[in-house]
Amino acid sequence: MCQGVSQCHFCNEGEKSTGSSSSSSSSRGTMSNKETRKMDRLVVASISSSLMLLVVAGLVHPSSGGITTTSRSTSCGYQSCHATKPGFINVHLVPHTHDDVGWLKTVDQYYYGSRTGIQKAGVQYILDSVVEELQANPERRFIYVEMAFFWQWWEEQDESTRDVVRDLVSQGRLEFINGGWCMNDEATTHYVDIIDQMSLGLSLLNDTFGECGRPRIAWQIDPFGHSREQAFIFSQMGYDGLFFGRLDHEDKKQRMAAKTMEMVWSSSSLGQTGWLFTGVNYNLYQPPPGFCFDILCSDSPVIDNPKSKEYNVDQRVTEFLNYCQRQSEAYATDHILLTMGGDFTYQDANVWYKNMDKLIKYANERQTNGSRFNLLYSTPSCYVKSLNGVKKSWPLKTDDFFPYGSDAHSYWTGYFTSRPAFKYMVRQGSNLLQACKQMDSALSWSGSTNQGDVNVMKRAMGIAQHHDAVSGTEKQAVVQDYQGRLHEGVVECQKTQASYYQSQLPILGRPLPDVKFCQLNVSQCDVSETSGRFVVNIYNSLARHVDKYVRIPVAGGDSYQVLDPDGKVVDSQLIPISPQVQALPGRTSSATEELVFLATQLPPIGSKSYYVERDSKHRRRHSFKSKSQRLVPGEDHIITTDKVKVRVDWTTGLLSSVTVNGEEYFVQQEFLWYPGYNGDNESADRRSSGAYIFRPNGSDAFPMRRTMTAAIITAVYTGPLVQEIHQFYDTWVSQVIRIYRGQEHVELDWVVGPVPVSDKIGKEVISRVTTTILQSDGTFYTDSNGRQTLRRELDARESYTYTPTEPVSGNYYPINSHLFIRDPVGEQQATVLVDRSQGGSSLIGGLIELMVHRRLLRDDSFGVDEPLDETAFQQGLVVRGSHYLILSDGPSSAGRYRPLAQQIYKQPQLSFIPTTLTFADWRRLYKTQQQLISRELPENVNLLTLENRSDGSYLIRLEHIYDVGEDKVLSEPVTVSLQDLFPGFAITSAEETILGGNQLKKDSQRLVWHSSSDKQKNVRSSHSDEFPDVDLQPMEIRTFILNLVRDNRLDK
Ligand SMILES: [Zn+2]
Repeated sequence: MCQGVSQCHFCNEGEKSTGSSSSSSSSRGTMSNKETRKMDRLVVASISSSLMLLVVAGLVHPSSGGITTTSRSTSCGYQSCHATKPGFINVHLVPHTHDDVGWLKTVDQYYYGSRTGIQKAGVQYILDSVVEELQANPERRFIYVEMAFFWQWWEEQDESTRDVVRDLVSQGRLEFINGGWCMNDEATTHYVDIIDQMSLGLSLLNDTFGECGRPRIAWQIDPFGHSREQAFIFSQMGYDGLFFGRLDHEDKKQRMAAKTMEMVWSSSSLGQTGWLFTGVNYNLYQPPPGFCFDILCSDSPVIDNPKSKEYNVDQRVTEFLNYCQRQSEAYATDHILLTMGGDFTYQDANVWYKNMDKLIKYANERQTNGSRFNLLYSTPSCYVKSLNGVKKSWPLKTDDFFPYGSDAHSYWTGYFTSRPAFKYMVRQGSNLLQACKQMDSALSWSGSTNQGDVNVMKRAMGIAQHHDAVSGTEKQAVVQDYQGRLHEGVVECQKTQASYYQSQLPILGRPLPDVKFCQLNVSQCDVSETSGRFVVNIYNSLARHVDKYVRIPVAGGDSYQVLDPDGKVVDSQLIPISPQVQALPGRTSSATEELVFLATQLPPIGSKSYYVERDSKHRRRHSFKSKSQRLVPGEDHIITTDKVKVRVDWTTGLLSSVTVNGEEYFVQQEFLWYPGYNGDNESADRRSSGAYIFRPNGSDAFPMRRTMTAAIITAVYTGPLVQEIHQFYDTWVSQVIRIYRGQEHVELDWVVGPVPVSDKIGKEVISRVTTTILQSDGTFYTDSNGRQTLRRELDARESYTYTPTEPVSGNYYPINSHLFIRDPVGEQQATVLVDRSQGGSSLIGGLIELMVHRRLLRDDSFGVDEPLDETAFQQGLVVRGSHYLILSDGPSSAGRYRPLAQQIYKQPQLSFIPTTLTFADWRRLYKTQQQLISRELPENVNLLTLENRSDGSYLIRLEHIYDVGEDKVLSEPVTVSLQDLFPGFAITSAEETILGGNQLKKDSQRLVWHSSSDKQKNVRSSHSDEFPDVDLQPMEIRTFILNLVRDNRLDK
């Protein structure tokens, strides 16, 4: 996202910008005239002797497992690297373009190059131009990263252009790097989404280019901090290295001084299996100042005509080599990597290549006069290969790169929460996509047609993971485009769900009536509000039995009967919807109550249908009405289930204690807000809080009301299934504290917004939980992309010396699943789970806080150029969300929060069918329960993926959801048998692949690295299991491609 003069001032961290480098906003360039430089591609290719050997490349055949591999030796990959010179400092020039999949403009506006008034950026021209220029000189190299763009371009090309591109790829001249659908954000993304979006790009590359299209290097040059889980995912996807640009300014300074800009990242408890070579770019991803040879820039070309008054070769080469000298002083080997490109550069690639050709020529000519530098066209892969050839022991990194402070007052921790409604939409989309892929597989098994197109959702979700998408750092118009795409994906997934039920449920051939969907996030459902009889289909995408409390909006005043799949009446309870939820902007519903019942033992990867009937005359056994408790002054408010008792202090109106299984925990929870700093961004200490940056004005968060009563209790409801206390803080903050029978956690269901800003103060709203676990003392634990757990320490960093300058925002970390504190002896632990990405911290012992919403009035000057002042329905954005509070002892905590986190992420999918049939008729015509797998998987195993592939095979991923030592029993290695897992089918082949599904595991040979500071061994070097048994180490993920054949003997 680095763009424009003022932004690049902040971006150029390795070197102070000369101010002349890039100036996209004032670009004076015009599109190149391609016609004048058009060359005969065939002639150029044939005269290049170095190409003659390469003709064999590009021949591909499908191997078993449906993965395309090259059939003969090729010259792509490491073989295609130019030779380096021993005894010289080898300067690897890496031509690249950074193409944001949406930011200031939408994806399509960037692709086609429209709206030049916002940004002069057109990706189609970049690819056109680069492909042409690469043909002009076989020495040249280019890397391309974002498959969302490449794919759009590829589909528009004719066969002859595609042939040219295939040749360039098979010769290693055009190389795919990273290769996901986008360059995903690392803080606000869920690991399932990262795996999905990477796999989407990788599988298309494999299908199109075979092994030569397989990226070897990860390239996260722009994301705002880097996660350990992301590094782990790359290691498991077979990558040999990772490069990025952004890390904390102090970390970078120290690494440059110590020459530790390159390291081995130990990304998991799996030992060397999870090692990933990692390099930090010297200058973010920009070229050396003064050497941006782009139509967007105004730097001087290299002029080598001695007769010209403009002749400048000597001066330019000297400047360039001086820069190389400075850079080499920060790195440990005789190789340095220079990023020759920037945001949307190479729309006229000739400008770059013509000047770099000259730079290389004239710089290398100086070698005869004693120059120590050898310049070459290169790629990140070739650079990594060179470093791997240096027999050296690399420093080991074990923590992550959060938070990212670009200077003493600019902590990029605001975007952990920015655009909370969109972040929720993405998380919901993720859950839906997983269910949708499973259902698509089921349709394929049964030979039924899927009326929906799962690819629409896959691509929309792929784009949404971009580092200016789910991060919330795009312009308002762009987030609307992302939402529109996601909505299209949702509609397609709903068609898939309808097809699925249509194929699975009818018994006697009578078609199923239309399946409908509801907006349950705003408690709105046309079917349940208006129908006398309806069926609720509840789909569980977890490979385990799940009990789920279902809440269905209904008009008030009636009574309901709920029948389970066998026709037994199940307990149900009617409970009022809070006035704040009823008043949610955009809600068009007459529902005033929700009908609550427990759907028990939802089958693994399957569904149950419940039959609901309205009984206006209250003739039959009906749903329980919640009791509204009388509020007595001086008396605490108490709600109790069989497991949990919640007490709310009558004076403060706040939670004061939670008793779980007889153990009382003193715990308070409250909403507060930080005032956002309004600066002019002229210097570091005048930085505003904005879309990227969290910078409160002072360290104190303010209460909603400055009285003894922090919140007013408006209602207390009791009943057999669910109990609630309704809190009102202010007209813009309210909350329901909720407990369910049989459950041990407390649910906090909040509504925040519109955040008032008429006082000209932007506000960043937090929920703060205060416990008596004071001994936690600034140590807390946060998840990494919803998966691993990392230990955090207040005002400290594990791998560098840190100077606290922003006491609040410098201690914020991204939370995608869980945040907890515990006492050192493990007697007490408080864990909060989230339903979307948020920023969080523990600023003093015993305290947890999570930022739920933010509305700001200034831009923070990192490029988006809009204040984060979201509106919807003609007012400030209103957001509804949930936190889940678990209080337990330390040893049993993981066994509680791990499964709950899975259930929050993979909430069952609800759909509705209005009907006039009686239950008996319904059940005669339609199945009321079914499941896709024959049995549930072990407690510590998640079926992460089940999807069908274009070649008729299926891809599955199994993961161990516990880490080493988290739980006495559940952290043990586990074996899963796939035998007869899919009823009616026999598995005819199962081949293990790397995590992306784009290479067979047995063919994967990653480069080996050495690190002296660690004795880490592989947890295992190879898998000893024999199919159909799959064994999993803690936190391990294994991926298989299965071929299934119908086996009537197994049919049930
Ligand atoms: Zn970017």
